[in-house]
Amino acid sequence: MNLSPLRIGIAGIAGRVGRLLCEEISSTHATISGGTSLSKDLLNLTCQVPVFDEIEALINVSDVIIDFTNASITGRHAKALQNSQTAWILGTTGISDEDQNLIEETSKTIPIVQAANFSPGVALMIRLASEMAKALPAENYDVEILEAHHRQKVDAPSGTAIAIGEAIAKGRQVDLKQVQEVGRYGVTGARKKNAIGFASLRGGQIVGEHSAFFISDVEEISLTHKAFDRRIFARGAVRSAFWSVDKPAGLYGLSHVLGLDSI
Ligand code: NAD
Repeated sequence: MNLSPLRIGIAGIAGRVGRLLCEEISSTHATISGGTSLSKDLLNLTCQVPVFDEIEALINVSDVIIDFTNASITGRHAKALQNSQTAWILGTTGISDEDQNLIEETSKTIPIVQAANFSPGVALMIRLASEMAKALPAENYDVEILEAHHRQKVDAPSGTAIAIGEAIAKGRQVDLKQVQEVGRYGVTGARKKNAIGFASLRGGQIVGEHSAFFISDVEEISLTHKAFDRRIFARGAVRSAFWSVDKPAGLYGLSHVLGLDSI
């Protein structure tokens, strides 16, 4: 039995979520082994730990990596982790299809917990959206997904909105890419019967809001989640890091960590 504290490395340690990860891990019995960052944003980092330029150096001193960085480096991280025995908690969004395939390949050798949103409320919302999609047929109910985020967000629709859309598409047994309508503009023609629509708002410092609307001719039912503080994502990721210890290789979601799959 290994009694030494879990060593957690934070990729993106100086970011909005990375800084909160420092605080959250500090209040557990784990240690922060270090972080990675683009050097220019290290100002006022409260967490006094080594910061590396390369992910490989961080992996060398860590049992698990929590990654909230940028999709442009996810592929590189996947390759660096591929042959190691280091678990990966992946929160970065906006990941390309090619890199997502690489993540799936990598999960054959290490445990990966990937979630577009590490809040328990959103994990439950995704589950409920899938159940609603099974119960409310596409012939009668139009689905629209609305998300709102802070002005600095670089990808749209948000990874969470896409995850909600995928859950609804799965519930309807269709491929999201075949039915999605993203960012309508101009003369679009009438809404397609089975479409899943997406709209994105960007402004101020909105942490993250998501709604899924099921709209028929005679009623509307909707689910809404609002994150008030990004600490909720940091907490979910830290919980996932502890959960990942001793898990076999595989691609997991927050629903596995929370045990929602058994509901
Ligand atoms: P941020 O811009 O504040 O921080 C990003 C961090 O990544 C910075 O420290 C930056 O230095 C680092 N970084 C960026 N490019 C890098 C590179 N090439 N090499 C090394 N480090 C690099 O962003 P944020 O708000 O903390 O969000 C980070 C990511 O997490 C985004 O993709 C965002 O959409 C996602 N996110 C996910 C969740 C979730 O629950 N899964 C919640 C919030 C944000």
